Amino acid sequence: MGVEQKLGVNKFVVDDGNPHIKVNKEICKTCGIKPCLVACPASLYTLKEDDISFDFAGCLECGTCRVICPKPGAIDWNYPQGTFGVVFRYG
Ligand code: SF4
Repeated sequence: MGVEQKLGVNKFVVDDGNPHIKVNKEICKTCGIKPCLVACPASLYTLKEDDISFDFAGCLECGTCRVICPKPGAIDWNYPQGTFGVVFRYG
C-alpha cells in the first residue's frame, strides 16, 4: 500500500470555520524558501500566483510545518479542539 493510499484510510473531522492552523500570507510572502511546500506530508501547502494557499482539513497534526517554518508569526499552530481533527485508521 502506497503512502497516498494509507493517507486515504484516515478520517478527518473538520471544525468548519475554526481552523487549528492559521497562515499569515503576508509574512509568507517574505519567505524565500517556503519549506512548507515540500515538508508537509499531506501536501496541504500549495503556491497559487505567489501566494501560499493552505487547507487545514487534511492535517495529520504532525507539527512539521510548525517546526520547519523559518518565519516567526507566519504559522499560528494549535491542536484541533476535542473531537475534531484526524482519526488515524490502520489496516
Ligand atoms: Fe501538514 Fe503536518 Fe503541518 Fe498538518 S501539521 S499542515 S500535516 S506539516
